[in-house]
Amino acid sequence: MSTNRTWMPAAIALVALQALCGCSSTPANQLGLVPQHRLDLTGASKPIVHTMHIQPVAAPSASPDPWRVSGYRLWRYIVIHHSATDRGNAAIFDRSHRRRGWDELGYHFVIDNGDGGADGRIEVGSRWKKQKWGAHIGGTPNNEYNNHGIGICLVGDFRNKMPSRAQIASLERLVRQLASKYRIDPDNVIGHRDGPNAATVCPGAVLMNWINRTLRPRLRTQLAGMR
Ligand SMILES: [Zn+2]
Repeated sequence: MSTNRTWMPAAIALVALQALCGCSSTPANQLGLVPQHRLDLTGASKPIVHTMHIQPVAAPSASPDPWRVSGYRLWRYIVIHHSATDRGNAAIFDRSHRRRGWDELGYHFVIDNGDGGADGRIEVGSRWKKQKWGAHIGGTPNNEYNNHGIGICLVGDFRNKMPSRAQIASLERLVRQLASKYRIDPDNVIGHRDGPNAATVCPGAVLMNWINRTLRPRLRTQLAGMR
């Protein structure tokens, strides 16, 4: 996310964010609860999945499975961002966003680049577990893209270079699984800058070009074969 970097007192910033995004802790678009489920990032053709394995993976941990989610949200978009920083990870961005007065890490997923986290590692953000609205893109009065958009941030600055091969592989796998699971139209897999009224170059021209020319067409073909 490369907009709204101006520091504001927390209370003002939160009000500003909510005004911008229309965020609410009681979203009207919740359609009810469904049983807890997990994403499967290996078996692209499985209609219902109960396990998740991905390469590269985060180190095993005694903490609860970060992929397990509770609640349900109608997802219509996948919005891809870059951090516009050389290094970072979900924890660093979480602190940064909280310092701006936001509720927590604004993205749902972060894909590390080897500087701050293992190259290609997909970090599951705290708001994904709660199936909480995103805080990564504005542009519409009803906050459509935050309310229904899954935010994925790749660590790095991709105005003039591509993400690492491991990051690209993880991004493609993650997008494919999310789009399949939530029936997201490939045309709704966008870069931040493609959002309405977006005044940003995020996720960078080089990555954006790859999304347009490679990711979306390939996704269209893959999903057509899966459905
Ligand atoms: Zn962005």
